[in-house]
Amino acid sequence: MGLIDVIKKGVFVDILRGMSVTGTYFAVDKMTVEYPKEKLQTYPRFRGVQALLADPETGEIKCVACMLCATVCPSQCISIMGEQTPEGHSRPATFDLDLSRCIFCGLCEEVCPEAAIVMTRHYELSTFDKDDFCLNKEKLLANQVYAHKELYRQPVGNVAPSGAAAGEPGGVGDRADAKEVQR
Ligand code: SF4
Ligand code: SF4
Repeated sequence: MGLIDVIKKGVFVDILRGMSVTGTYFAVDKMTVEYPKEKLQTYPRFRGVQALLADPETGEIKCVACMLCATVCPSQCISIMGEQTPEGHSRPATFDLDLSRCIFCGLCEEVCPEAAIVMTRHYELSTFDKDDFCLNKEKLLANQVYAHKELYRQPVGNVAPSGAAAGEPGGVGDRADAKEVQR
């Protein structure tokens, strides 16, 4: 042990250095989020459960059943059946998404030419019924309420959003009175 080490030990340099780190964090603002009463606000690019969007003016579903999302999906969890409207537009007659197989990669959103399918900020998907993971067109449209703020919201009928157990809008753990907390 050299002379410098002896001096350092004598004046407790290492202890003082450690205490200075502790002191720095002691002064920093700390935040405790009381989940589920409070929730952290998700980042704009957060990828939660999907939603299908409708045109805000006509209320028509924006999806044109081009099948790109179903084709690109690495989990093969989207299945669509297209149909023609009397006006000759292509629309999905059925649109099913098996959320239990989804890996939330966001490729379906990225590839969609109509910006019709989006990943939302909703992440509380726990449920006691695995059928809740089978999202049909109506449930995906109802999920518009979870779309990020930069996307418009379209009020939709009485269909409960996905993940919602009977009588519990928003699903298990979701509280209507929960406050969103910003980081
Ligand atoms: S997020 Fe990825 S895995 Fe999930 S449906 Fe979209 S493309 Fe498929
Ligand atoms: S959601 Fe988009 S990519 Fe998927 S079928 Fe509809 S228009 Fe095509």
